[in-house]
Amino acid sequence: MQRTLLTPRTIVTMDSQKRILHGSGIIVRGNSIEKILSPEELKTSGKFDGEVVSSPSLVAIPGFIQTHIHLCQTLFRGLADDLQLLDWLRLKIFPFEAAHDERSMYASAIAGVAELVRSGTTTIMDMGSVHHQEQVIRAVVDGGIRAFLGKAMMDMNELYPRLKEPTKDSVRSTLHFAEEWHNKAEGRLRYAVAPRFILSCTDELLHEAFAMTSSFPGMLFHTHAAENRHEMDAVRKRCGMDNVEYFDKLNILHSNTVLAHCIWLNDREVGLMAERNAHVAHCPSSNLKLGSGIARIPDLLSKGINVSLGADGAPCNNTLDMFQEMRLAALMQKPIHGPESMNADSVLTLATMGGARALGIEKETGSIEPGKKADIVLLDLNKIWNSYSEGQDIYSTIVYSGSPDNVQSVMIDGRWILRDGALTTIDQEKVVESARLELNKLLKRIQA
Ligand SMILES: [Zn+2]
Repeated sequence: MQRTLLTPRTIVTMDSQKRILHGSGIIVRGNSIEKILSPEELKTSGKFDGEVVSSPSLVAIPGFIQTHIHLCQTLFRGLADDLQLLDWLRLKIFPFEAAHDERSMYASAIAGVAELVRSGTTTIMDMGSVHHQEQVIRAVVDGGIRAFLGKAMMDMNELYPRLKEPTKDSVRSTLHFAEEWHNKAEGRLRYAVAPRFILSCTDELLHEAFAMTSSFPGMLFHTHAAENRHEMDAVRKRCGMDNVEYFDKLNILHSNTVLAHCIWLNDREVGLMAERNAHVAHCPSSNLKLGSGIARIPDLLSKGINVSLGADGAPCNNTLDMFQEMRLAALMQKPIHGPESMNADSVLTLATMGGARALGIEKETGSIEPGKKADIVLLDLNKIWNSYSEGQDIYSTIVYSGSPDNVQSVMIDGRWILRDGALTTIDQEKVVESARLELNKLLKRIQA
């Protein structure tokens, strides 16, 4: 099995002791981290029988984990700005998603994967699409990113009735995709059932979707909750209670439940989230840009609720860049909870181990430790906007002044997906050209 030795200047392990190692080495064997060599071991280890990637000016961190993404929306960046959630869905996003064909779907998903990898993300959970989900899967397999995927499930839609399908069809095709793709692509792919949100799902669909998770070990339940005040009003009207209370009533709030946003949780719901060990996918840019609100993250963390981060979709962000999510996750809380809240170290934890815990893969990834998968990002922190020296706080350098331009190389599952700034599995020029072409064709289909 192929072995590679990485010799970065610094390793930010994000292990339980939050060790920061200088002058150490990482041995990767196959798709896993075999060993961390101390500086002494590195000096005395002799000739290494494998590839040596000498990177004495770079900093290794665990790959970012984004627990809420919509790859099918990447093409719609810049086409749905300055709207509140329900109008954003009704006027723009649902009609756009419904207009996808196979080619535009692939173009959208592969562009998203390229952007995510280019900016240091190694694992995602994606909300998928009602139609052409196989193209999202194909793009993820081609790109080589680690992913939890699910076809978006919608069996009702008062906002845009054309984008939905009969309950049985939605459940049947979900089961088909799960059987075909859960634990596939050398284990990089797993399934997460993805009912879109309460307002697009009957109780039957929510039940059936959650029930499916018990037949597939490691499968997750991924949906949106408590994002917007108008959505909350509509949920109360239908269910007589708030989102999370309703999920609990339906018995679909458990440790494999990941809820995006969770901005407008009442105190009972916070209690339920903690009690059931459910997870939050916090999406700061999306929450601010759609004017949805500010989630009470410090409060949730203090109650022991696991919080992870996600960029959501390109048209509500408008990037898929984890550096921006980290920076905003910290900054947005400070006027409310004080400048000492959400420090850089805790935010990088949300972006790595928080994500791994949300996805139930904390034993496999989220930190740089022997035995874990080799999901490693090499950062060049010798830039004019953030040059790092040992006397500085590395977490601050990454969280408050980091950017995709710091990302030099990305290894996922032991394989270089970005090497010295160049994508290895994706032709960047072709992706950009195809995204432009397919978007133009899609917009013409909408007008027709
Ligand atoms: Zn979303």
